[in-house]
Amino acid sequence: MLAANNPALHSWIDIAPTSDFPIQNLPFGVFETPERGARLGVAIGEYVLDLYAVSQHGFFEDLDIPTQPKVFRRRSLNGFIALGRPTWRAVRQRVSELLRHDNPALRDHEEAMHACLLRQSEVTMLRPVKPGNYTDFYSSIEHATNVGIMFRDPANALLPNWRHIPIGYHGRASSIVVSGTDIRRPNGQRKAPDAAAPTFGPSQQLDFELEVAFIGGRSTELGHPVPIQQAEDHIFGLVLFNDWSARDIQSWEYVPLGPFLGKSFGSSISPWVVTLDALEPFRVAGPAQEPEPLLYLRQLDQHNFDISLEVGIQPAGGPETIVSHSNFKFMYWSMAQQLTHQTSNGCNLQVGDVYASGTISGSTPDSLGSMLELAWRGTRPLPLSDGSERKFIQDGDTVTMRGHAERNGVRIGFGEVRGTVFPALNS
Ligand code: MN
Repeated sequence: MLAANNPALHSWIDIAPTSDFPIQNLPFGVFETPERGARLGVAIGEYVLDLYAVSQHGFFEDLDIPTQPKVFRRRSLNGFIALGRPTWRAVRQRVSELLRHDNPALRDHEEAMHACLLRQSEVTMLRPVKPGNYTDFYSSIEHATNVGIMFRDPANALLPNWRHIPIGYHGRASSIVVSGTDIRRPNGQRKAPDAAAPTFGPSQQLDFELEVAFIGGRSTELGHPVPIQQAEDHIFGLVLFNDWSARDIQSWEYVPLGPFLGKSFGSSISPWVVTLDALEPFRVAGPAQEPEPLLYLRQLDQHNFDISLEVGIQPAGGPETIVSHSNFKFMYWSMAQQLTHQTSNGCNLQVGDVYASGTISGSTPDSLGSMLELAWRGTRPLPLSDGSERKFIQDGDTVTMRGHAERNGVRIGFGEVRGTVFPALNS
C-alpha cells in the first residue's frame, strides 16, 4: 500500500469528516490569486497548499526528483505531469508528510505555513490541464442500451460492434472549461422528424452527461500501441466531467460521421485531479464481459473504481434537486481498455489529454446519467423540488455533479463540476 493512502493518517489541519479532501486524497490542481498569479496546488480540507511556496521553502529539495520550481508556477499541470509518475508520487508523499499531525516542519513554522496555505474560498481555480486532445467514449452498457431503445430498436438496442469495441469519438479540446464557467446555450441546425426542412436557432434539447474523465499522464510515440498491462501507467488521475449535449442538434447532424457541434459548444471539468494512486483502495471488478474481448483488450485483475456520483439541478433562485445517483464502477469498458483501444492503431497520446468515460448510467430509473434518459426523450418530465419539471435543461439552471469514494472511514472526493446555462445569442 502507498504510505500516503494509510487510513490511520491524520493532519494538523482541521478537516471535517465529510470533506472530500482528507490527507489521504491530496489531489492536484491549478489556482490563481491576484498576488501570486497561477500556481499548482494540492487540496487539503478547506485549504489549498501552494506547491510553489512549498518548493521555495525548500521542502522538496532533498527529494530525488527533477524539481524545477518553475513547474509549480504555471497555468496547467501539464509540465508537472510530464515529469513522470516517480515525481508525482514523491511530491504527493512529501506533501502527505508535511501535513501529518506529528510533523512540526510546516505546522510550527509560522511564516512558511502562512505562505503555503490559502483558503480555497480565497483562490480562483483554473482548468487543471491544457488538453491537446479530447476523446469521449460510450462505455456504459446501460446508457448505450437506453439510447438504442429510444432511437433505434428495443429488440436490438446495442449495435453489433458495442460489446467488441470501446466506442468513442474525437471531441473538441478547445471548449473544455473549468467548473463554474457559464455555459451558453448553443445555436444550431435541428429538424423535427415531421418538419420538411431544418431551421437554425437555439437548441431546445440541452442536456448534461454525467461522466468521469482520466487525464493522460504520459506521451507516447506515433506508431506505438500501449499494451493493456501498461495502460494505467499512462493515467495521471481522474476528474468529474459534464459533457454538455444539444440533443436536437446532435440527432440531425450525427449521421454518418458522429457527434459534432451538438457537443463541442462546451464541456465542464472539475478543477481537482484525483490521482490514480489515491484511488487504489477503491479498485473493483467491472461487469462480466460477454463475449470475451479480443486478446489486445483482455485485462487481468480489477480495473474499475467504486466512485459514487450524483447530479443536481438548481433552477435560478430555487433549491437544488438531486436527480441522479450513479457509480463509476458500472462502466462496461475500463479506462485501461479505452486507452489501449485508443492506441491500438498507433495513435499517440499526449500528456494532459482528456479521455471521458461516456455517460455513466446505472440500471435503475434514479441512476441515469442524462436528461435524455431521466425524462425518457421528453416523455416523462422530471419533477424538481420547487414544483417545476424538466424535459431538458432550461436557461438559468445550474447543473452540479459530485463524486466520492469511501472505505474504511476514508473519503476520497472530487469536489464538484458545476455550470449555469445562459440564453443563446440572438441567431
Ligand atoms: Mn459524452
